[in-house]
Amino acid sequence: KESKSLNFIQQIIEEDLKNNVNDGRVHTRFPPEPNGYLHIGHAKSICLNFSLAQQYQGKCNLRFDDTNPVKEDTEYVDSIMNDIKWLGFKWDGEPMYTSDYFQQLYDWAVKLITDGKAYVDDQSAAQIAEQKGTPTVPGTESQFRSRSVEENLDLFQRMKNGEFKDGEKVLRAKIDMTSSNMHLRDPLMYRIMHAHHHRTGDQWCIYPMYDYAHGESDYIEGITHSICTLEFEVHRPLYEWFVNNLTETEYRPKQREFARLNLSYTVMSKRKLLELVKDNHVKGWDDPRMPTVSGLRRRGYTAASIRNFADTIGVAKRNNVIEVSLLEHCVREDLNKIATRVMGVLNPVKLIIDNYAEGEEEWLRIDNNPEDENGGTREIPFSRELYIERDDFMEDAPKKFFRMTPGREVRLKAGYIVMCENAVKDADGNITEIHCTYDPKSKSGSGSEESNRKVKGTLHWVSAKHAAKAEVRIYDRLFNHEAPDAQKETDFKEFINPDSLQILSECYVEPSLKSSNSEDHFQFTRLGYFSVDKDSTAEKLVFNRTVSLKDSWSK
Ligand code: ATP
Ligand code: MG
Ligand code: MG
Repeated sequence: KESKSLNFIQQIIEEDLKNNVNDGRVHTRFPPEPNGYLHIGHAKSICLNFSLAQQYQGKCNLRFDDTNPVKEDTEYVDSIMNDIKWLGFKWDGEPMYTSDYFQQLYDWAVKLITDGKAYVDDQSAAQIAEQKGTPTVPGTESQFRSRSVEENLDLFQRMKNGEFKDGEKVLRAKIDMTSSNMHLRDPLMYRIMHAHHHRTGDQWCIYPMYDYAHGESDYIEGITHSICTLEFEVHRPLYEWFVNNLTETEYRPKQREFARLNLSYTVMSKRKLLELVKDNHVKGWDDPRMPTVSGLRRRGYTAASIRNFADTIGVAKRNNVIEVSLLEHCVREDLNKIATRVMGVLNPVKLIIDNYAEGEEEWLRIDNNPEDENGGTREIPFSRELYIERDDFMEDAPKKFFRMTPGREVRLKAGYIVMCENAVKDADGNITEIHCTYDPKSKSGSGSEESNRKVKGTLHWVSAKHAAKAEVRIYDRLFNHEAPDAQKETDFKEFINPDSLQILSECYVEPSLKSSNSEDHFQFTRLGYFSVDKDSTAEKLVFNRTVSLKDSWSK
């Protein structure tokens, strides 16, 4: 692999290694909350965390950050594990769960209370918020801040025992209500929530807040580099406050921040993606229009193309928006290398070769992939009646129309040169069939003088008798605004593109595709890259268009 300059996270790690920080270990983690399916932003974080571990002979944990029982579910846990594996990464050991640390986190909270560093507050969320102040106005101390250690210990235990209702009490860290960092103004550590947890059931009715649970979970797991997105930069002093107040060892996990991935023409928050699913704007989390890992996969993205995309965009310190055309560029690049070239006709019209014997057929040899020297060849059937694209015929064509028009020659890919004769129309003037004659000596690859004749256009086709019928789903952007969720006045759903899915149900593809499997990748000659949908059966083939052939990405 070519050597690239180090990104700023690698620079931090190399500096830490040089100084033997945390005994020179590198241990990262990917910490999803199981409240939805992973999206391309998570994929970026996965690639970053797992690759760093690989690069520095370290480890990367998978940790489910499951501290909010009302939004979480095992369906999400399963899909997340599946997506990480599909992306090509393997976490160290078993998956971890913050919920496995609930007892330890509780014990540490008791220690903070004992040390006079945490207290139970009876005020409502609204009252607490009101006392918080603003960055320029110091906050006001709660009247419960001076409770004795004994009273706090008693109340916290009773919170845990379920003696209070949701919202009646919270546990807060006692830090500094005048701090210029709002996150240090006595942040919440625990809230009461009488809710069933997907793993711990009804064992707990108090749940730790992210800021408390996250750093401590990192500590428990021996994480060295806890990489998160920029919004958490201002939380870092709090992360460190908790760790510093709870441990006497030298070892410290360190939080480091990078810019989250934003992609044009889509939204990337699980809450919003869930809304799209629930309101049936899409057909599930893995709808090929979704920016989810499972959606991209179903659309025909390869894991390699997503890893390559993550690598190409690098690690930024400032928030920015990446063009979706770069993601498309990455999948084209990969599919160009691996996708078998096949022929399929999406909008068919019959082409009849008048001088080709009826009932006759022959099998033509064609390259599977000219980009792959080990790609091999296969045979495709040719006969008197073919399908070609309706768009490839024009009755009164301009000079530069190098396709099918009466009186001009065109090559049928891997087959013969044909001369277009005429078109037959029905009573309404719709073309029902096109007639042509072929030059039997012009067979592609035969080496004959006729086969080497220069003909401007080459068309794709399928043999009508042999073709398999298929449904082809063509996707456009799900939103018709570049930044659908960044418009203050307008809900992001207002920007949903009503034409994001086009279903073509009368397509014909070459017979070799009858034995294709879900998620197989193909290039349909002249049309784009397609992948077999999970709905596809031998009786009814279904393809998703991954991307068109043309690359609009400019470097
Ligand atoms: P969302 O708001 O989309 O639900 P989240 O950050 O709440 O995202 P988590 O499940 O907590 O989702 O995220 C798991 C990990 O993925 C975190 O470390 C988070 O920083 C990272 N992550 C989430 N979104 C992005 C993104 N757009 N770009 C890079 N990393 C991301
Ligand atoms: Mg989160
Ligand atoms: Mg979230």
